[in-house]
Amino acid sequence: MIEGMTPFVMTDACPCGRQQQKKPIPFSQCCGRWLETVFPALDADCLMRSRYCAFVLERAPYLLKTWHASHRPASIEFDPGVKWLGLEVRSHTVLDATHAEVEFVARQKPVSGPAVRLHERSRFVLESGHWLYVDGDAL
Ligand SMILES: [Zn+2]
Repeated sequence: MIEGMTPFVMTDACPCGRQQQKKPIPFSQCCGRWLETVFPALDADCLMRSRYCAFVLERAPYLLKTWHASHRPASIEFDPGVKWLGLEVRSHTVLDATHAEVEFVARQKPVSGPAVRLHERSRFVLESGHWLYVDGDAL
């Protein structure tokens, strides 16, 4: 946990916003299953959501681990003071056994200026039993 951040606990509602019977799912039963353990995310949708949480919680090692080597940056810098406002997964398309796409809208609020909407179609590939983020097109 980064110093100065609001303490986040496993029983809090998952930042990815997933719901079950119209109730938020606790982080421990949602993206925490992948972020806090060695188990690989079940599918590209789960990976996408857990990576959003990793941005919210500033977990650079998880983001690097789940980034395909062909596009992985050397390091990740988090913009200080950014507030993530929410994630909306628009679609999850399984292309074949090892390729999938996820379209999402994530919203964030920089320290200064208006909220920003990130709308992207991301590509994911399954390698050695692990879904990995490859890259995406801004929409
Ligand atoms: Zn989640």
